[in-house]
Amino acid sequence: MIRFNQPPVVGNEIQYIQEAIAGGKLCGDGPFTKKCSALMAEKFGSRHVLLTTSCTHALEMAAYLCDLQPGDEVIMPSYTFCSTADAFVLQGAKIVFVDIHPETMNIDETKIEDAITDKTKVIVAVHYAGVACEMDTIMDIARRHNLKVVEDAAQGVNAWYHGKALGTIGDFGCYSFHETKNYSMGEGGALLFQDDSLLERAEILREKGTNRSKFFRGQIDKYTWVNFGSSYLPSELNVAYLYAQIEKLDEINEKRCAIYQYYYEHLKPLQEKGLIELPVIPEGCRANAHMFFMKVKDLDTRTKLLDWMKEKGVLCVFHYIPLHSSPAGLKYGTFHGEDEYTTKESERLLRLPMFYNLDMKDVAYITDCLLAYDEY
Ligand SMILES: *Cc1c(COP(=O)(O)O)cnc(C)c1O
Repeated sequence: MIRFNQPPVVGNEIQYIQEAIAGGKLCGDGPFTKKCSALMAEKFGSRHVLLTTSCTHALEMAAYLCDLQPGDEVIMPSYTFCSTADAFVLQGAKIVFVDIHPETMNIDETKIEDAITDKTKVIVAVHYAGVACEMDTIMDIARRHNLKVVEDAAQGVNAWYHGKALGTIGDFGCYSFHETKNYSMGEGGALLFQDDSLLERAEILREKGTNRSKFFRGQIDKYTWVNFGSSYLPSELNVAYLYAQIEKLDEINEKRCAIYQYYYEHLKPLQEKGLIELPVIPEGCRANAHMFFMKVKDLDTRTKLLDWMKEKGVLCVFHYIPLHSSPAGLKYGTFHGEDEYTTKESERLLRLPMFYNLDMKDVAYITDCLLAYDEY
């Protein structure tokens, strides 16, 4: 069976984990956390990178730092992972879903402005498949209406929009290093922001409400409980694993892009015959081959194709039941405007195996299976 995903292994992970153990410090903010966040800050051009225990937690931090009041509204696409919404629900916000673009599956920026009310505080841009949302327009809307922008860049690490790393454009950017993402530490994430004045509050929030970071920098003599906080700091063991991956950022990216390119080139004939649709990367975006998806005619065709691929020994998957039609989505949110594409497009999308250690021979086999299928 060809698996759908496998966590990436590039080579130095074990050595770095051993170094972390030998260093005798396994809790957060040790040498690997410092090195790894500095390297990411440099590679992605971000003033601040705080590693966290997950992207869900980075989103929680961002939502908290947006200073929401119960009843405030947050605009986001319905076609996303539930963590995007969870973080804001935790702050008592109401979620307002808007429709997506069918080609990228990203939020349709032309639908945002109509959903804004005097309660709206935040727009969340989810960069699906590592392809950027139309950030110039989104930032312009946010500025004119005095809203914050949070980028859910869980899938957008090392992906770019007009030369800027995803996650560094809005007020906050959230990365995921879950084992299903391009760069991994098992479970983990990062919060990115550019505003220096947020650093102290963010550090306090991440360190259980204490000013421990300031204490370690020698800026104060004693550390104490200064504000509400939680524990979002990852262990050095996990960050040691991630450091090996970030060092090999380009190598991982090149391999994933080669797989993407192979799928794209070899499946193009099916698109030309009008049988399937392939992903579109807009002008000005440099994507990161986070996933390769294709769309078939309808739900029924997808179900049959998934079964057929499974019989051939290939695990393909689909995802995201739109949040607005899920039980929690009905409770916490509403869909603004017409659901023209969200439900319809989500039902016909399927994802092909995509991971760093995937053998190119397997990629060729997967493609051959898809080309041999004759019931599109
Ligand atoms: C993976 C993912 C998350 C959650 O990431 P974790 O690190 O597992 O918390 C959030 N949003 C999107 C769009 C994702 O793909």
